[in-house]
Amino acid sequence: MEERLRKSDTLNVVGELAAGIAHEIRNPMTSLKGFIQLLKGSISEDHSMYFHVISSELKRIETIITEFLMLAKPQAIHYQQKHIVTIMKETIELLNAQAILTNVQIHLEYDPVPEIYCEPNQLKQVFINILKNAIEVMPKGGNIYVKIRKNTDQTIKISIQDEGTGIPKEKIKKLGEPFYTTKERGTGLGLMVSFKIIEEHNGKVEVQSKVGYGTTFYITLPIKQQDVL
Ligand code: ADP
Ligand code: MG
Repeated sequence: MEERLRKSDTLNVVGELAAGIAHEIRNPMTSLKGFIQLLKGSISEDHSMYFHVISSELKRIETIITEFLMLAKPQAIHYQQKHIVTIMKETIELLNAQAILTNVQIHLEYDPVPEIYCEPNQLKQVFINILKNAIEVMPKGGNIYVKIRKNTDQTIKISIQDEGTGIPKEKIKKLGEPFYTTKERGTGLGLMVSFKIIEEHNGKVEVQSKVGYGTTFYITLPIKQQDVL
């Protein structure tokens, strides 16, 4: 089962809203965080639990805002020629500590591929989101297979395969919807941001999944970008 995922219209509207709201929330958040830190010293032992809850919830709001802000055009957007393998290696290095903690092994395999015209930080964000989901879906450990191949039509295909729970067919179309999450502490924003970034690169994302066996995300990216960027 394979489905092309396109959510650009919803994403544009949400993206514009997100930028405005996220900026508005960021300022009061900063003062909340500052004053909570100041209170820390005067909190009694039996209230320290409250302090932890407040801190962790504040952190969560921050995560949501950060992911939301990714939807808006980031300030330092800089398209350039870059090796996708380098970007992927850097990403894997970044996530390896988290992966090893839960006994997840990330395997990378690649063809010699040319540099592509892209925004490396944004692509890194996409790979982080998809790899994190893959790690999170295998709490008891497992393998993630990352493959980078060159297609014959001037595109590059990246596949990220996990051995997790899989996604039921009727849920696949919900991926990338704002706030769609099945996790207790999820934001449901990671894939939405990722799909938007890939669309901006004129690429596409496809998902193949089998419940009980695992999921593969396929990202296709053009090697060259014409006039759009
Ligand atoms: P979050 O990770 O915060 O839940 P995402 O947008 O990253 O938000 O993912 C949305 C949902 O898509 C997840 O909650 C999960 O249900 C599903 N999902 C994403 N990746 C996978 C995967 N590799 N295996 C199974 N389910 C997945
Ligand atoms: Mg996620």
